[in-house]
Amino acid sequence: MNPYTIFADIVAGRAPSSKVYEDDDVLAFMDIRPFTPGHLLVIPKIPARSLSELDPAVGGKLFQVGQQLAAALRTSEVGADGVNFFLADGVTAGQEVFHVHLHVIPRTPGDGFGLRGRPTTLPRADLDYLAGSIRGALDRNGNNS
Ligand code: AMP
Repeated sequence: MNPYTIFADIVAGRAPSSKVYEDDDVLAFMDIRPFTPGHLLVIPKIPARSLSELDPAVGGKLFQVGQQLAAALRTSEVGADGVNFFLADGVTAGQEVFHVHLHVIPRTPGDGFGLRGRPTTLPRADLDYLAGSIRGALDRNGNNS
């Protein structure tokens, strides 16, 4: 699959972006098609197509910078009253640009943004069964707590 994405060009300065934050590992800039005014993207500078390719330390930094941006969205002229984080990993999850990115979406009352989906109610036995399956996968991946 073609590893090129527009975000690599933004990191390299070959494509325009409206930056709000940059350090050695991470870049944050305005989303070109915002869900709400002030919608930001936080990306690793080293391309990773998916969460499985992303250095976990850099993944932690994406969240850390997201926290700082969330605070700035509340105190800047954006005037956010709340903030949503969103990350699409994989086509089925809605990922369109295959360079990991954390959406930081400022919220104001009545802004019209929302996630679609209907929560279901599962019996505890089903929850426990799936929890066991996921714990098993964590163990096999060497992530046991
Ligand atoms: P996703 O569906 O999670 O992969 O989201 C990709 C996001 O990247 C969308 O919200 C786009 O509006 C945004 N996007 C795509 N190209 C650019 C660009 N050149 N500058 C800023 N944001 C972009």
